[in-house]
Amino acid sequence: MIDQEKNRPTWNEYFMLMAKLASTRSTCLAFPVGAVIVKNRQVLATGYNGSPSGTAHCITQGFCYEGLSSCDASKSLPSRAVHAEANAIAQAAKHGISTDGATIYVTLEPCLTCLKLIISAGIQEVIYETDFNAGNTLLVRDAFIADNLVNLHQMTIRDELANNVASLLVQATSIVNNE
Ligand SMILES: [Zn+2]
Ligand SMILES: [Zn+2]
Repeated sequence: MIDQEKNRPTWNEYFMLMAKLASTRSTCLAFPVGAVIVKNRQVLATGYNGSPSGTAHCITQGFCYEGLSSCDASKSLPSRAVHAEANAIAQAAKHGISTDGATIYVTLEPCLTCLKLIISAGIQEVIYETDFNAGNTLLVRDAFIADNLVNLHQMTIRDELANNVASLLVQATSIVNNE
């Protein structure tokens, strides 16, 4: 018998895979980020980083501002992006969904602005894939954790599972398994 249990994502992997999928919709390309807010194993809202709803996408007009070589190339002009976590929280607010006591899965550790928003939105747990904070922002982040305002956990998706999911993406997914 094939070990199907090993190929099955854990709940954390399942929601992180969704966050990765959300990141593919990113339109501000400093780096793609995706976020999924979950409570009681139910998805409440998703988000990815991009310019505010209704404004020109960075990928359409040539990064955050025309003439730049990347979205974060300008030293003086601010990023136009709403971050993935903020967009997910805004989506929940727009649709009247409470985020109190929820968990957020995000492909990049939240910046301090997003982390403050996460705390104020009542989200208690952050599960992220890639490190972001360093220096002073790391000190503030750790002070929030020490004050029991939020928990943060870093995780990666197992290579074996990632490869399995990648193969599902390049071929039809629901092929009858006769083995
Ligand atoms: Zn941009
Ligand atoms: Zn942020």
